[in-house]
Amino acid sequence: MPHHRQIKKVAVIGAGTMGAGIAALCAQADIPVVLLDITKESADKAVERMLLGRFPAIEEPQKAELITTGELQEGLPLLKMCDWICEAVVEDLAVKRDTFKIIEAHRKEGSIVSTNTSGIPLRDIDRGLPERLRQDILVTHFFNPVKQMRLVELIPGSKTKPEVIEAMGEFCGQLGKGAVYAKDTVNFIGNRIGCFWILSGLHLGREAREQGLDTEFIDAIASLPAGIPATGLYGLVDLIGLDIMDKVSQNLAINLPDDDIGRAYTTFPPEEISMVTNGQLGRKSGGGYYRVTKSEDGSKTKEVFDLLSGEWRTAKEISLDPEDQSLSSLINSAAPQGHFFWLLMSTTLSYAADLIPEIADDIVNIDRAMRWGFGWERGPFEILDAIGATEFSNHLLAEKRPLPKMIQVLNEAGAFSFYRADGSEFLGVDGLFHPVPES
Ligand code: NAD
Repeated sequence: MPHHRQIKKVAVIGAGTMGAGIAALCAQADIPVVLLDITKESADKAVERMLLGRFPAIEEPQKAELITTGELQEGLPLLKMCDWICEAVVEDLAVKRDTFKIIEAHRKEGSIVSTNTSGIPLRDIDRGLPERLRQDILVTHFFNPVKQMRLVELIPGSKTKPEVIEAMGEFCGQLGKGAVYAKDTVNFIGNRIGCFWILSGLHLGREAREQGLDTEFIDAIASLPAGIPATGLYGLVDLIGLDIMDKVSQNLAINLPDDDIGRAYTTFPPEEISMVTNGQLGRKSGGGYYRVTKSEDGSKTKEVFDLLSGEWRTAKEISLDPEDQSLSSLINSAAPQGHFFWLLMSTTLSYAADLIPEIADDIVNIDRAMRWGFGWERGPFEILDAIGATEFSNHLLAEKRPLPKMIQVLNEAGAFSFYRADGSEFLGVDGLFHPVPES
């Protein structure tokens, strides 16, 4: 039976980086939006920013006219006309709860409400709030920059009606986004696996350095062979900011389940701790692992920070040898880069393969989250298929490492890959193959 939740008008509360991005996305898709912030000026400034800059969030200036800006209190009567009200205020539980109380008092029956939180559990946000709100609430976790990143993670609360998730999934499609269905667990899907990859990578990178691998080489090995963006490991942390990654790791230390293997990596390695202390935070502070310097004649040089000596030097251009580009030769290689690659990828792939059904019902949602949110060419289970699940399994056994849950499911089902029939069917946690849902 079709649901009856049509989204024709949207309200976004909080006109910062994410709120502005979400409002611009709707306007770009010809949907009228009400954008409210603490002052009308901050919402107006957000609209200005959507139109300026090198990559404007709104391409046709007349579309910005679809956005009505306002101060929160004055704008509240407008909420009655909105079918989806998205909260994108600061990441603070008390502020979010207060915002939802206000929203609930002013919204119409049947409207959908969501929070864009990246780390606060929905059960903490909606605890004790009116039943009507709890039935209509979900997390809509967009990625930054909203315009470029395809992923939106949708997470129901304990009381959320299925039709709310269904309607939002459809609407995300209308906005040109890819919805992934996640659960109310720490960091959802993309950041749970992506941040694990980064944090475990920083620790493994330390060992690789001791074996003589340079930062640039580690980044090349961590990216191209597995189809991961060229920023690799350190380049990605520079982009995110070392201070933000440090906060993420502290949040994980509090919220990961007690037996989660990610707990081994929630403390920054000593080199990274001193970088944060020194304000060497990444691109936003003018340098992290890399920096770009300009000489008097205007020419630019990319430099890399040598973590062993603490000195900057000119970064090398890396072109990987063919055997360092191939998955199968890398994982069978005894060279330091092969060892690093195998440890980095096998740890993350095993982690992902252990998280079903904890964080998602199936492998498809995990693979899509990593492709759409982290720009991986293949998700973890697609990489496992490329390596060969049997080969992967044998490697783990040879190292006396435990087989992760989904590998066990695969072995017990007598299957050889997680996808079959040209990727149109996937292996479920029940050991049976199911059709891959349309994206
Ligand atoms: P931001 O600091 O850029 O913007 C927050 C905005 O909310 C500001 O404009 C502020 O004036 C406004 N605000 C604060 N309290 C308010 C209130 N009571 N009523 C109305 N407006 C209020 O923050 P952001 O980066 O856009 O993050 C917003 C949310 O999205 C957070 O929950 C964050 O965790 C989440 N998130 C952020 C990112 C990211 O990369 N920035 C990615 C995914 C999710």
